[in-house]
Amino acid sequence: MVALEQKVLREGTVLEGHVLKVGSFLNQQLDVDFLVEMGREIDRIYKNDGVTKLLTVESSGIAVAVAAGTVMHLPVVFAKKNKTSNVSGDIYSAMVHSYTHNTDYKIVVSKDYISRDDKIVIIDDFLANGKALEGLIEIVNQAGATLVGATCAIEKGFQGGGDRLRAQGIRVESLAIIDEMSPEGIAFRK
Ligand code: 5GP
Repeated sequence: MVALEQKVLREGTVLEGHVLKVGSFLNQQLDVDFLVEMGREIDRIYKNDGVTKLLTVESSGIAVAVAAGTVMHLPVVFAKKNKTSNVSGDIYSAMVHSYTHNTDYKIVVSKDYISRDDKIVIIDDFLANGKALEGLIEIVNQAGATLVGATCAIEKGFQGGGDRLRAQGIRVESLAIIDEMSPEGIAFRK
């Protein structure tokens, strides 16, 4: 998505440890009109696939998923992190390793909200090593639902998570893929 690449170049900052900061439109302040543009792009990718539900993880994935859900007229389910007390009844759960924070956390979704009849697209803000996506895929599998695909706004291709999932046959369609990134510049995959 060329408009997203241009926005990252204009507004993004590359921090230590290969972290891209996009607080002006995605990770702290939300550029709502631009989020809806991303939602339209996600709709274009999946509009013929009979998707019934979008699945993301709190917190930063929610904005992208809600934008897509608004355009696609689909419900959005978000996995909660480390909080089981306010998720009642039976749950699906998976462990996720965060390289960014060097911690493991549990994600949970109530069984009330995903069933084996669902055709799911997973949405997130960033794809790096792929651990968040793997956890969400595990939840889709536990539910016996169909995974249609996964879309992240920004994939850091040089960290390899997206390509590892593609090699397993999972349809991963990110809106922008960064192949190289340093404080001197950002190069996108063609
Ligand atoms: P993964 O599990 O693919 O390694 O990392 C994905 C998760 O880590 C995303 O949900 C995102 O919240 C966070 N993340 C990874 N890399 C970055 C980054 O460069 N910038 C920001 N803002 N978040 C990131």
